[in-house]
Amino acid sequence: MKQQPKNIAIVGSGLVGSLLAIYLKKYGHTVTVFDRRPDIRTIVFSGRSINLAMSDRGWKALSEIGIEEEIKKIAIPLDKRAMHVVGKPVYFQKYGHDGEAIWSISRGVLNRRMIDLAEKSGVIFKFEEKVWDVDLPEAQLYTGDTEKGEWQEYKFDLIFGCDGAFSRVRHKMQRRSRFDYSQDFIDVGYKELTIAANADGTHKLDANSFHIWPRGKYMFIAMPNLDGSFTCTLFMPFEGDVSFESIKTKEEAKAFFKINFPSVDHEIENLATDFFKNPTSAMVTMKCYPWTYWDKVALVGDSAHAVVPFYGQGMNAGFEDIYALNKIIKQYGDDWEAIFQAYQKERKPNADAIAELSYRNFMEMSSKTADPKFLLQKKIEKRFADKYPDKWIPLYSRVTFSDRPYAEALAMGDEQEKIMEHIMAIPDIEEKWDGAEVEAKILGML
Ligand SMILES: Cc1cc2nc3c(=O)[nH]c(=O)nc-3n(C[C@H](O)[C@H](O)[C@H](O)COP(=O)(O)OP(=O)(O)OC[C@H]3O[C@@H](n4cnc5c(N)ncnc54)[C@H](O)[C@@H]3O)c2cc1C
Repeated sequence: MKQQPKNIAIVGSGLVGSLLAIYLKKYGHTVTVFDRRPDIRTIVFSGRSINLAMSDRGWKALSEIGIEEEIKKIAIPLDKRAMHVVGKPVYFQKYGHDGEAIWSISRGVLNRRMIDLAEKSGVIFKFEEKVWDVDLPEAQLYTGDTEKGEWQEYKFDLIFGCDGAFSRVRHKMQRRSRFDYSQDFIDVGYKELTIAANADGTHKLDANSFHIWPRGKYMFIAMPNLDGSFTCTLFMPFEGDVSFESIKTKEEAKAFFKINFPSVDHEIENLATDFFKNPTSAMVTMKCYPWTYWDKVALVGDSAHAVVPFYGQGMNAGFEDIYALNKIIKQYGDDWEAIFQAYQKERKPNADAIAELSYRNFMEMSSKTADPKFLLQKKIEKRFADKYPDKWIPLYSRVTFSDRPYAEALAMGDEQEKIMEHIMAIPDIEEKWDGAEVEAKILGML
């Protein structure tokens, strides 16, 4: 489908900006993408930057534009979690039904490929051009080297802000009356660490698993890369007894890994080195509204909704924004005001829902994974879901292996939680959990 050609700017050449550029180019628009950073394709990195889990919503957006297969070549399917629990040998939990998997993909490698694809389709990229200001009603951008220096002015028909959680475009919208905005940092930070490949290029841990070492207040995860290495993330409080602040020397870091993560014993020297080499980063939930300004400006991806990463859905949600926007464009043709209204109305409740779900997952991981009652509840749910897969779709599957709205997944999850409250209140549930009474009661409440 064609639209009346417009001159469109996208601020941000991250994952969301580059995918949106590919979509908009297909409609015949002139698309220019600005980024304050240098072209990521010219930066030398080992391909071991942050790893992301791509799931069904992300793939759907890529498939719609015909690049799913191309991107799958640089991703590794993970069909299970590998749980590294203290005092137990590693055990595996399948994610879903056969064929259901999340995909490990390097953010840097993915971003390079997407920019390549966008450029091939005719998108213009302007790297190392930071946007300092936006004239919203005029759709004008101002770029330059410094905030106080000389600025270059660009006039467009439309501007998309895909400039991430600390968006400059949104910053300008925030100055308007009746613009809602909130930002909540959690007290846990994260650090990227690496487990190198074996000498022959093979993986040191199972390559088709998402590895998790849950330890209550802190957690270590590892996702495979194509070169045999793993990108790991250590989540831990910034301050407190066991925290980023409390580990001060390499020896302390080594002791920390040795005691807490014995299954990566062989990597301790490297992990302890990375620990001091790599920065500790913060995680934030950011909500705002409205996401659009007249028929001129719209926010897409993290600039509209940043979530903590504990559901692995931030990018997936951003890609789903684009999928939804595309559907709405087809419906409204050239009426950009109607397109923007429909887009923000459809996506806002879903963005709020995935923010809530992501935050709950963080709370669940940090405070409930050691609670026997919580673990029993999960066991009952799993048993029931395995036996009645049509009647009980686990919340994780609704979010990860479905394209139904996030808001629906949240509501259904809350319904299931209510049922489980009744079940967990059954006297002696610890003895009866796998019996007919529990099963009948769940069936009765559904
Ligand atoms: C630890 C961690 C793990 C994660 N894991 C997952 C996961 O498993 N699955 C998942 O789906 N998501 C995950 N996410 C979330 C995911 O990384 C983000 O949702 C996604 O990268 C957002 O993409 P974006 O393009 O909207 O923003 P960004 O990636 O932030 O890109 C914004 C771009 O805008 C540019 N920019 C910013 N300001 C300006 C300016 N003033 N002028 C010009 N350019 C500008 C930046 O340079 C950047 O290139 C994770 C996030 C973190 C932190």
